[in-house]
Amino acid sequence: MNILLASSEAVPFAKTGGLADVSGALPVELTRLGHHASLILPAYRQARDCGLPLDDLGIRFIVPIGSKTMTGQLLRSTIPGAGVPVYLIKQDQYFDRDELYGADGKDYIDNCERFVFFSRAVLETIRLLDLQVDLLHTNDWQTGLIPAYLKIEYRHRPGYQHIATLFTIHNLAFQGRFWHWDMLLTGLDWKYFNWHEMEFHGYLNLLKTGMIFADSVNTVSPQYAVEIQTPLQGCGLEGVLQHRRDVLSGILNGIDVREWNPAADPHLPARYDVDSYARGKAKCKAALQDELGLPREPNVPLIGFVGRLTSQKGMDLILEVLQRWAQTVEAQWVFLGLGQPNYHKALETLAERFPQKVALRLEFSNPLAHRIEAGADLFLMPSRYEPCGLNQFYSLRYGTVPVVRATGGLADSIVGYGEPNADPGQVNGFRFYDYSSLALNETLHQACDAYHKPEIWNPLIVTGMKQDWSWSRSAKQYVELYQTTINRSKH
Ligand code: ADP
Repeated sequence: MNILLASSEAVPFAKTGGLADVSGALPVELTRLGHHASLILPAYRQARDCGLPLDDLGIRFIVPIGSKTMTGQLLRSTIPGAGVPVYLIKQDQYFDRDELYGADGKDYIDNCERFVFFSRAVLETIRLLDLQVDLLHTNDWQTGLIPAYLKIEYRHRPGYQHIATLFTIHNLAFQGRFWHWDMLLTGLDWKYFNWHEMEFHGYLNLLKTGMIFADSVNTVSPQYAVEIQTPLQGCGLEGVLQHRRDVLSGILNGIDVREWNPAADPHLPARYDVDSYARGKAKCKAALQDELGLPREPNVPLIGFVGRLTSQKGMDLILEVLQRWAQTVEAQWVFLGLGQPNYHKALETLAERFPQKVALRLEFSNPLAHRIEAGADLFLMPSRYEPCGLNQFYSLRYGTVPVVRATGGLADSIVGYGEPNADPGQVNGFRFYDYSSLALNETLHQACDAYHKPEIWNPLIVTGMKQDWSWSRSAKQYVELYQTTINRSKH
């Protein structure tokens, strides 16, 4: 199968979030599975400064943007070590900027125009390089126009008739909504600006456009695919998703098992695997307590949190529980993250008042994230919603027991201790359903009790450490979905 993955970001070229990890890892695994996969993204300044050679293919092309035309240039690179071809669309007016999507907390005002250009450039590249694509895998609102252009403008042109499209939603909250006059930039007929297709409450909506025009739609976990069809999680698009439910599915993201491997992690003071975790984790915990200025307490549960300090991640629940626990419960807490200023302040106050129990690092630090995953006993993820989540996978691999709210990818990856009907061989953490501090409080108590009972705790650790959350597992599911999509597009 010949797959072209179009994305607005991909490691190691340009990254703002999880989309970049998926886009960088999936083509590598597809190639390992024997498929021909390539990647296409904008040649941002970040990509050009990433240290990898970008070769000019000497090809220029022109695309219409509203009433003007813009010129683009094709660059080529490869994902290091994997030989995956990467095509980069160079257009400095659009992409030679400090950031990918905006500066000082504001989106760039020409974002619609930038991604109209990128979407058209992707389709032109297929022709210019004769890529013979079977499946075009598009991702998030930045590429939502591609399935529409393919169906409306390109489908009758030679080289495009047999291309099937998959559109992946990584986070429904980011929709690429623009004022209606931006419809002119797309060059598509106004007749498509209706509530069945590209319009959403008077705005042009590029996420919706992708969802409507692609042959298949998926999200980054099966549970999130179900949740986004409800008013609670659907961000207003639940009706559209219900309408497309026959072609909607979910595939969990994988993790980079080379970077996240406790047996060979250069960031850790001691390395360990499933046979040696007891000693290894004890050393990592003591070193982490030293690093954070917490007292060395080998038998007090250490609860870790790494991530954005936002309401999506359940910070309001955490703070309610922490305020009580810091005064009454024998437990230590570590927070690593950045986010909303009100949460920074509340955590700072608690860390100052209870320095023996609460450690806080308001920064982005990958090495410390690794050390927390290894040194903590429990890992906290009480998210309001979570399309997939990555930290629960890292925690499982590092023998740190996740305590999660059963939503999205967390519900799909964590099997809760004590739940009726749970397969005992799969139980790997603790989870609760109600988005309430009461439920979190109760579940944390349950987890901390279990921490003191090795006959419960050790099997939880071993089960988690033995599970496979690698990209190769997810890539196999993508191959099946690609095949289904190709078959669907023929009918
Ligand atoms: P989201 O994409 O919603 O922020 P995910 O769990 O899917 O959440 O992915 C976020 C990734 O970024 C995780 O690997 C997490 O550990 C990492 N991360 C977030 N904040 C920090 C931080 N302050 N320091 C180090 N790593 C962080």
